[in-house]
This record gives sequence, C-alpha cells and structure tokens, in this order.
Amino acid sequence: MKSNGFRFPDLPPRLKNLGDLATNLWFSWHSDAVRLFESLDPHLWKILNENPVRMLREVDVQRLKDVSENPDYLAEYDRVIKAFNSYMRNKNTWFAQHFPEFPDKTVAYFSMEFGIHECLPVYSGGLGMLAGDHLKSSSDLGIPMVAMGILYRESYFNQQIASNGFQQSQYVRNDFDRLPVRLVRNGDNEPVTVRVEVDNREIGVRIWRAQVGRVPLYLLDTDYHENTPEDRKITERLYVGDRDYRLMQEMVLGMGGVRVLKALGIKPSIWHLNEGHCSLLVAERMRDKLKKDGNIMDAQARVRSSTVFTTHTPVPAGNEVFVRSRIEAHLKNLWEALKITDQEFMSLGQNRWNPDPNSFNMTILALKSSVMSNAVSKLHRKVSQKMWSNLWPELPPDRIPISSITNGVHIRTWMAMDMKQLLDRYLGADWRYHQHEPEYWKEKIDSIPDKDIWITHEHLKQILRRDVRLRIQAQMERNGEPPEIISNISRLLDQDALTIGFARRFAQYKRGTLLFRDRERLKRLVNNPDRPVQIIFAGKAHPADQPGKALIQQIYQESRNPDFQSRIVFVENYDMGIARNLVAGVDVWLNTPRRPMEASGTSGMKAACNGAINLSVLDGWWRECYNGENGWAIGEDREYDNEWEQDEADYHSLLRLLEEQVVPMYYDRPETKLPCRWIERMKASMKTAIPQFNTHRMIEEYMESLYLPVLKKKKTKKDNPAS
Ligand SMILES: *Cc1c(COP(=O)(O)O)cnc(C)c1O
Repeated sequence: MKSNGFRFPDLPPRLKNLGDLATNLWFSWHSDAVRLFESLDPHLWKILNENPVRMLREVDVQRLKDVSENPDYLAEYDRVIKAFNSYMRNKNTWFAQHFPEFPDKTVAYFSMEFGIHECLPVYSGGLGMLAGDHLKSSSDLGIPMVAMGILYRESYFNQQIASNGFQQSQYVRNDFDRLPVRLVRNGDNEPVTVRVEVDNREIGVRIWRAQVGRVPLYLLDTDYHENTPEDRKITERLYVGDRDYRLMQEMVLGMGGVRVLKALGIKPSIWHLNEGHCSLLVAERMRDKLKKDGNIMDAQARVRSSTVFTTHTPVPAGNEVFVRSRIEAHLKNLWEALKITDQEFMSLGQNRWNPDPNSFNMTILALKSSVMSNAVSKLHRKVSQKMWSNLWPELPPDRIPISSITNGVHIRTWMAMDMKQLLDRYLGADWRYHQHEPEYWKEKIDSIPDKDIWITHEHLKQILRRDVRLRIQAQMERNGEPPEIISNISRLLDQDALTIGFARRFAQYKRGTLLFRDRERLKRLVNNPDRPVQIIFAGKAHPADQPGKALIQQIYQESRNPDFQSRIVFVENYDMGIARNLVAGVDVWLNTPRRPMEASGTSGMKAACNGAINLSVLDGWWRECYNGENGWAIGEDREYDNEWEQDEADYHSLLRLLEEQVVPMYYDRPETKLPCRWIERMKASMKTAIPQFNTHRMIEEYMESLYLPVLKKKKTKKDNPAS
C-alpha cells in the first residue's frame, strides 16, 4: 500500500515519501530517519511520544512548507528515502544468499505483545521487546515472516507515582487512526474480517497492519460496531486480569490469527509460538487438517511437524493455566469440530502421566504440539527441562526435548545514535554487517581511542541526566510539590558521579530493594564526598501486585529522604523511550534477580552495547557473557535451597563488589584524567556483548535449529511423495 494524500493532507508534494516513512516502523531503528521527524519540531516530537503519524498531522503546516524548501533538509530527506527504498527492495538479503532453495516459504510468528517502538503501545515488558527485536532482525536478514498480535484499545498502563510513593496506573485509550497502523481492506475497500466462535456466539475480528521493515505485523481487534459492548472489550487490555476475557483474548489471537492468514491467502510453512498465550492456534489448525485427513491423530501429527515453540517462563506459576469449567464454557464447539470428547480435548493441555483433571495448561499444549521447543538461555534450558521432565517420564532430564537459543537485542534499536556515529567513525559504516563476528569486534573496538569513547559516554550521560530531570520535574509539578523543592532539581544527578541504573518490572524475585538491606552501609556508599554514587531506578509493578507496588513505594520514599536525597531517584513510567536513554547513559547496569528466575534478561545487553558495564547475578544471559573482565558477577555460579540465605549471600557480594572494585575503579583517574581501567572494561563489555547477544545471531540460530529442519523435512516430503 502506497502512502497517500488523505492520511497526511498537509504534506508538501516534495516530501510525500515522509508518509511512507511514518507508516513503516523501519524509521525506529534508523537514527537519521528519526531525525527527519524530530527536527520538524523537537518539542512536539517528545510530547507525541515520537509518533511520526501524529507528527506529520500536527506539526505546523508552515514548518513543513519551510523544510520542503530547505536544501539541507531536502538533501538529508533524499538520502534517507533512498536508503529506505533500497532496504525495502533489496533482493540480496542474508536469507536469499544462504537459502535460495526456499524462496516462497513463510514463518508465521505469533505473540501476545510486540515492543517495536513506544508509538505503538502493544507491549508490556521483556517478552514484547524480544518479539519486536525478533521482527526487526528478521526483516534485516530477509527472513520471510509475517507476525500476528493484538491491537489493544488501551496502552499497557501509564505509571504515575503519587507524592506518597504509591503507584497509580492509568490506562490510556488509543485512537487507532493516529497510530502507524492501517485497517486491512479487500478489493472493494471493505474491511477484511474473520469470525471466532466463543460459546454459542460469533465474534467479529478486524485486522490492522503495521509494517516492521519488510515484515508485516497483523494486529487483531474486536472493538468495533459489529460486536456487543462486552465482546468489544476482548481486545481492550494486554494481560487482562479477568480469566474469561483472557481466554477469549487467546482465542482471538490463536484461532482468529489462523483464520486471518487464511483470509489473506497466506500459507505459512512454519508456525512459531512465542510463549503459550497463542497456543490455541494449534487446535484451530487441527480443525482445518481434520477436514482433509479425517483422523485426529494424523491431523495432530501434521500440525506438530510445522510448529515450533519458545518458552520464557522459569516458574510453574508463570504458565498460562485455565480451569476446566472455563474451557468448557468457551471451547465446546472446538472439540465437537475435532470430533473428540471433552476429556480428550482437556488432555491436550494436561500431563498425561500426572493429569490435573481440573486444569488446561497452554504451555503443555504448546510443548506437545511443537516439533521443536526452545528456552531462552542455557541455564533456562536446564530449568525448563527439569520443570517439564514429567511430560516425558521415559527420558532423563537432560534429554527432554527443549533446546536453548539465548536471547539477543536488536543493536540498531538499542545502541544510542552517538555510539553508532562513533562506530561509523572508527569502524566504518559497514560494522552493521559484521554484527555476529566476535573476531571483528575484538579487534575493532580497540581501535577506538579511549578519549573518544569516554567523550561519547559522557555525552550520553548528559542526555540521560537532562531527561531524568525533566521527568522528575513534571512529576513533582503534577504532585503539587512546593517550588523550593522543585528548584532543587537543578542539583539532581551529578555528571561526575558514578551512576548506576536499575530498571525493570518490580516483581519480588527481581529484588529491587536488595541494596537497601543495610541502610547505613548504603548511605555511606552513596554519600562518600570524594567518590559519590547515584542510583536511578525505574519500573512498573503489575497493578494487582501489592508487594511489587510496596517496593516502588519504599524506593520512592528513600529517594525523598534527606539521607539519600539527590543520590537516589525514581523515574516514573518506564517505557522504551526511557529505556533507550537509561541503558545508554549510565555507567553501571545493575541486575539482581533471584537466580534462576531470570530466564534471559535483555536490558543488560542493551546497556553493554552502549558501553555500560554490567553488575549482575550469574543468571540468564549474563552467566554466558561474563568472562571476568567485561563486568562483575554478583554471587556464585550455584543454586540455593533457602531464599534468605541466597539473598544474604548475594547482598554481601554486591556491596563488597561496589565498595572494593566498582567505585575505586571508576574514580581511578591517573594523569590523563581518563579512567583507563574503567574504559578497558567498557570496551571488553562491548566486544563480548555486541557480537554474541544481538538478535541477528539469535535469528540465525532460530533459522538453523528451528526453522530449517522444518523446511527441509517438508522439501524431502515433496520431492519424495512415497515417504
Ligand atoms: C529491555 C526492556 C525490558 C526487558 O528487560 P529485562 O532485562 O528483561 O528486565 C523491559 N522493559 C523495557 C521497556 C525494556 O526496554
């Protein structure tokens, strides 16, 4: 679909391709494309949450006219548009070069959330970020992919911290017309819809399309006139608490998603389930296959042969389980269509060796229906194999068929513009094509002079400091704080102080308050006049998670306590935009999960690729990256039976590291005024994290170990019909 005048009526003809850029999320990982929008009106760009569709509609018309006659702007515009067009038209991708025998195959990637950019608020946290980065790298590498998700009427909540530190959640309603999405219409310009039967009624589903580079992302929506007010709410909120709505949401995504692809004439060769929320797609596909095969076992085997599954949850309670009565209420039609009994259907989501007759587990359905499953780090693989070992009682735990593909991040999204420019200067722009070559980085990062990497880092730190101050100021003004307190903000955050970042969901196991275990010790650490330390916290707690909200309140109150004032800050409403500034601008990225609960973690990778140094528990990805020189490891590489003992040991390890290594190294400035040993560690961090923990490497692994085996089997079947 081409850009058109009616979406952006004020766009001068000379700039008409800005409309294409605004409706393809490609802009979000190309800093020069972002700059084209931002430079129209930097202040407005911030206010609009960097939403380019709104930007082109709401920016001053005269300003658009002016830039359309400004030679500098036009030169930059022409350059970006040329790069965009050549990206979109490129036929010689990594995939095309390596797998010319599979030109017409498609991977369908299903996920409950996608974190692509903050202007498309269909994400909550890490799972969504991973899905978003999966699509971006798939697009970059030319993997033929379509993605399926849900367009939520309300953003996953806006967090506001009241003056007593209490988290308040606001759900902001989205006007889809102002998002970078487009309603999918047929040749008669009518919206394409599909139907999903729930109970004894049918629900209409509309389809929106977002474009992530070359990858289309279809987003499903029940909130339109054809449905009853109750059914319109099915796609209202991500991770809705009401279990009935949650199940209906998963039916819309899983079953509706299969029908959408059929309605659009897309025939995937591979179906990739990102976590268990979309598992019902396998049941829907079985229904289709049954029409042809007539035999449920054959149908099941055929579906299984083209389904792959990624599990992200290291605790049994984190898996998606529904009680029997709810499944019976909503899915009766499905098992009737499958010509099986209710018990047979229930058993698809149960462990047949040890069934809980009253529950249906979406992860079990996914594991049993997939030809290959993977965990998201090596340790997480072990934990998952143990967790699901009773599904395969005949196998020893290390043979349980769950492999591991460690997560990564999309470097061009998460590396700050200044750092990308520094690499351009010393490595040449083609570093982008060497992302997964450890030898390349080992050699090239050392070619950057210490002084230049430090200047870049200091500048990123300054950007962060400015951003945090503005946000805290807005928060205080909203909370009606007295002007004399607000005026103190200009002293908040010291450019020269060691700055630690901690930003993540406030769940108990992430131990966001571990540092405060001995308050006096922390006070001494941060208030040392010669070697001060400051800590920036951010993160949301699930609105129903009271203990999580209490952690936020505790940190917020400490941040206001004179003992810690201006050394500890809490920034509200953690989202992708804040995350980008935080991971790029801190000196140290702190992560304290209670091992082995952090399946992978990705924020530490984002920090590392910007030169921040990780100080983290040996869990998830960090256990694979840490080499003794590229950061610090909290605690030991071991398990505990006792949580108290574990917390105590990790706490002491953390404080000792800070007191004896991190702080002294940061402030060790020999004659050159540069912290040479620190910079060496920054470089070691970049050298190891960039080539190993990026999504290009990850997608190649998905290709090799999940997608390719499916494609090859299909091909031999076709070539040899007798088999
Ligand atoms: C990267 C990211 C996450 C996930 O980070 P973890 O390391 O898994 O905690 C969550 N939220 C946002 C906004 C992110 O950018």
